[in-house]
Amino acid sequence: MEPMKTEIVTDGPSGIARAAETLRAGRLVAFPTETVYGLGADATNDRAVAAVFEAKGRPRFNPLIVHCADTAAAERIALFDDRAHLVAETLWPGPLTMVLPRRPDAKLSLLVSAGLDSVAVRVPEHPTAQRLLRAAGIPIAAPSANRSGAVSPTTAQHVLESLGGRLPLILAGGRCSVGLESTILDLTGERPLLLRPGGVTRETLESLLGPVATSSGNPDKPNAPGQLVSHYAPGARVRLNATTVGPGEALLTFGPDLRKGETVLNLSETGDLAEAAANLFAYLRALDRLGVKTIAVVSIPEEGLGAAINDRLRRAAAPRDGSR
Ligand code: AMP
Ligand code: MG
Repeated sequence: MEPMKTEIVTDGPSGIARAAETLRAGRLVAFPTETVYGLGADATNDRAVAAVFEAKGRPRFNPLIVHCADTAAAERIALFDDRAHLVAETLWPGPLTMVLPRRPDAKLSLLVSAGLDSVAVRVPEHPTAQRLLRAAGIPIAAPSANRSGAVSPTTAQHVLESLGGRLPLILAGGRCSVGLESTILDLTGERPLLLRPGGVTRETLESLLGPVATSSGNPDKPNAPGQLVSHYAPGARVRLNATTVGPGEALLTFGPDLRKGETVLNLSETGDLAEAAANLFAYLRALDRLGVKTIAVVSIPEEGLGAAINDRLRRAAAPRDGSR
């Protein structure tokens, strides 16, 4: 990506206003929460969310946590049952994230939940995060504000060292008090599941909900069956590196391609990988809705965001066990 100038502003009224404006314009802002500094983007804007993956250099599209000012704002994007209401009343604002079903009418980027029908939501307590969320008036997607694989930042200076030149603005609000990532509680199933330990203990959750099953620290490396974070896969078969389109196939293409039609979608005619990332899940779903047997996908360059796009396409193309 093109290097850019990274500015640091303090969290007074003008800094908050600048940060809110920058986010609403679809650009990235790092901001403090009580856990770690987050790399924030407008969660309703696919291009802004794609920019998060680009800035972090993440090799894959894992779902991001969406931060909301309060429970009412969270309820506009996620479906709360009685358990979720109880947890929200007791532990929000705070270092606790809930994975809940996405509202079908949520004005939310599909990329933010990596194409899944669930969404991770949190109401942070940090006063700077609260002021920013209220000023911006949008849900903010934010993973930790560091390059992929690096340690999580707890000061604005850490963010600058890791991401300087890769985002326009850092909102400085002092040190993070918890310094640990948020606890992630999955309430999409019958049994509450702890996906990641963090600032809120399992004992606290169990005192509210009864038994909570525990996943390994890494949701991608489960220690028991059923704990895997499932990945979005279309119903149609996916064929990679396609150069031709067979009968009954839909085509997902990229770059200058003269093929057009009802069964053809172009991730980015100009060959822009950020645009392609932003469109990926929506286009896979749209082609899948056509009811075709196979989606043929042209090869995508394995550079920048192309690596994450290809990672997801390879998973979608992997042989399935037929149980889904
Ligand atoms: P990070 O943003 O780096 O703090 O990581 C967010 C964590 O939340 C990752 O481990 C994700 O796998 C998890 N997560 C976010 N959304 C979902 C979801 N919809 N379903 C399951 N896990 C999720
Ligand atoms: Mg992280």
